[in-house]
Amino acid sequence: MIEPLDFSIQLPPSQPPVTTTDQDPPLPMFLFVHPSQPPQQPPQQPFPPVNTNQDSDPKTKLTMSLYSTPPQQPPQLPLPPPHAPRRNRRKPSHAPREGKSPIIAPPFPWATDHRAQVHNLNYLTENQITTISGDVECKRCEKRYKIEYNLEQKYQQVSSYVAMHMHEFHDRAPKKWMSPTLPTCKFCHQENCVKPVMKKKKGINWLFLFLGELVGCCTLAQLKYFCKHTGNHRTGAKDRVLFLTYLELCKQVSPDRWTL
Ligand SMILES: [Zn+2]
Repeated sequence: MIEPLDFSIQLPPSQPPVTTTDQDPPLPMFLFVHPSQPPQQPPQQPFPPVNTNQDSDPKTKLTMSLYSTPPQQPPQLPLPPPHAPRRNRRKPSHAPREGKSPIIAPPFPWATDHRAQVHNLNYLTENQITTISGDVECKRCEKRYKIEYNLEQKYQQVSSYVAMHMHEFHDRAPKKWMSPTLPTCKFCHQENCVKPVMKKKKGINWLFLFLGELVGCCTLAQLKYFCKHTGNHRTGAKDRVLFLTYLELCKQVSPDRWTL
């Protein structure tokens, strides 16, 4: 925005009055101030000598008087001081981003305070945690509800499958893990239709997914997150990372049985 500032110029008292015509109004001066530009510096050159003999041209006199008179105090301008700190872009006022501390609030009673780590069977049994539940959502009717698994029973089922068939896997997840059959919806009874609800990575319900053999519902990024925080290889295709995830969960739940 440009604001015209109006102030008149007084001629020095020593100078003879400028002869002007009657029609000449008082000389206004407009100082255009642009906020993005620094204030105009006064001319650094030495004052030109006042030539008192020169009395012919009033314009020349006016120019000379500008230099020879003490500078008028300019009106108070609403300008920032020349060295005012430039206003930086405001930093976002969000809380600082959560660090990648290995310690987290356990997202479930059966999860530890370490990322991607669940409690073992001894701990769970001692703490009377015998049922593992998880949120699911029907892809058809979109109802959300909880599914519960019996820990002991389901763990035996999955871990036995792994033990019996691991030599066939060649370090890669079988098809039934890669494309898991989803549960049937208890509301609309659509088969293969209820998917686990995925939250943030640190809140993934790993034990629930393991017991339901639904770990394959995770994305590759989620599986790599799991492997990263459990010290496993996390490169390669999804079937390889998924295999490692199942194996790691077998070990976490029953470290005595799985000493691989
Ligand atoms: Zn449904």
